[in-house]
Amino acid sequence: MNPETPVMVYQRLCALVQDSYGMFGEVLLHCVSTESEIQQNSEQLEGHVCLLQALRVIQRLTRDKCSLLFSMIDSLWPPPVDPKSHDDLLRSPSDRVPPPCFCYRLSIQLGHMVPLSGQTESPLYRPPVLQTLREILQDESSRRRCSFRATVVHKQLLSSNAGDREMLLFVTDPSLQREPNTDRNRRTIAVCLSSSCLIQSSVTQALDALRTQPVLMFRDAVEENAQIFCWEQTVIQLEPEDSSFSIPRPIILDHLGPETPPYTLCTVTGVVVAVDESTAFSWPTCSFCESCRLETREHQKGFLCLACGAVVDEPTTKMQLEVFLSCSSLSHCTVKIKLQQKTIKSLLNSTSCTEGYSVENLLGSEIGPLSVFVHVVNRSHTVWIGLEECDLH
Ligand SMILES: [Zn+2]
Repeated sequence: MNPETPVMVYQRLCALVQDSYGMFGEVLLHCVSTESEIQQNSEQLEGHVCLLQALRVIQRLTRDKCSLLFSMIDSLWPPPVDPKSHDDLLRSPSDRVPPPCFCYRLSIQLGHMVPLSGQTESPLYRPPVLQTLREILQDESSRRRCSFRATVVHKQLLSSNAGDREMLLFVTDPSLQREPNTDRNRRTIAVCLSSSCLIQSSVTQALDALRTQPVLMFRDAVEENAQIFCWEQTVIQLEPEDSSFSIPRPIILDHLGPETPPYTLCTVTGVVVAVDESTAFSWPTCSFCESCRLETREHQKGFLCLACGAVVDEPTTKMQLEVFLSCSSLSHCTVKIKLQQKTIKSLLNSTSCTEGYSVENLLGSEIGPLSVFVHVVNRSHTVWIGLEECDLH
């Protein structure tokens, strides 16, 4: 096998390599289990000329099947130097070869990808360039590699019928938050974590405890239409606290408008004009574990929780409600919002209705500004926007 040059190596198991003919390959490395091992492997391999032995071809990858991979390859094309001679490419752009239309996914046993001793960093290697989120949004090129540091303000899990978008992280940074206020601002960006994007445990823990709004470093994601995609080749790391990267509180969001695309985070204010009664439920849950599996106890007060075994004297009432809003900024749009418990409670309190609630009492109530996730926008006849209230800490 010819010696190959890793252009980039990533945490876990996956590396993108480029050989002396300019061909790319995605190499799956095995048996990297801890974060320090990942770090060590990256430092050892990334940017260095390596010898790859005993490779096994797994798959031929094409542009239609792996668009994110090829966005990455296009961002690295043409190579900064002639891969063979390492001379600068001084020929006119028209002489240049178009970027490759396929590459191979290869697998290799650990220890069979070895950096060649005495070799410094390969001239083919292009380290990731950190940008602010504003710089990324201002770049007009359609799809490209990007790296940035950002604060995660909200995590949204998506249902499986949304394709391969498994999780959305809404992120922001000082460049988006400190801009003067205009209508065209973008205050947050959605980062889609595909199911193939494995995440280090320190990042998972930080995301589970989202109250802290962790700062993460994203290396080698792909930006397209003001959304960012993380995939096999993206490295996500937890950043240490840094006062120079602080964002003003409370976090500013965009206002919901008729042009707002789906999968964005916004604020909305409006008046309740209708209630979707089919969505209105309330049910008792365990005050310890929130399970709804409660059983009445024979001849005794309270309930038994079948999930945690606790005796629950006063169950917590959970409520669900979706309402239609009339918003001054959205005169010809139908806006439906799924409310959070705390908003439903304050709505019911303000209507001074103690025994359950009746629809009529809620009509005309003003709500907001609320932070919402825009999950559906339908523009087929009139504009129909589906929102879900979210809790930003
Ligand atoms: Zn329980």
